[in-house]
Amino acid sequence: MNEIKMNRRGFFSGLAKIAGVAVVAPTALQALFSTANAQEKRRGSAPAAGGTQMPLVDPKDPVAKAVKYIEDYKKAPEAKGNNCINCGFYKKTGTQNGKEVGTCTIFAGKVVYGEAWCASWNKKA
Ligand code: SF4
Repeated sequence: MNEIKMNRRGFFSGLAKIAGVAVVAPTALQALFSTANAQEKRRGSAPAAGGTQMPLVDPKDPVAKAVKYIEDYKKAPEAKGNNCINCGFYKKTGTQNGKEVGTCTIFAGKVVYGEAWCASWNKKA
């Protein structure tokens, strides 16, 4: 009987750990990276002003994967026609590879394509 209680406890404890790792709310990621941005600015290593000097976000990057970042919003049905250009976290900085790029609040020190999209998309005010 005692062994069954231990197993149930272990099961629910394990379930909570898995759920905690698997479910990462976009807003939590935003808060995390906003903090990272603020820390970078305090250290005096703010991103370069020109978008062409900053690296592009790699879609294979773990953070990019976590928010389902895709370089072409037209390939993501869940984007529903939205992209970085009309996202509140985006700020145009220039062009790269002949495409508009800009900074994004959740990707410190990098730029995203204007026509990219991710699950943290937030309507521009
Ligand atoms: S959709 Fe918004 S939050 Fe997502 S990568 Fe583009 S600018 Fe950043």
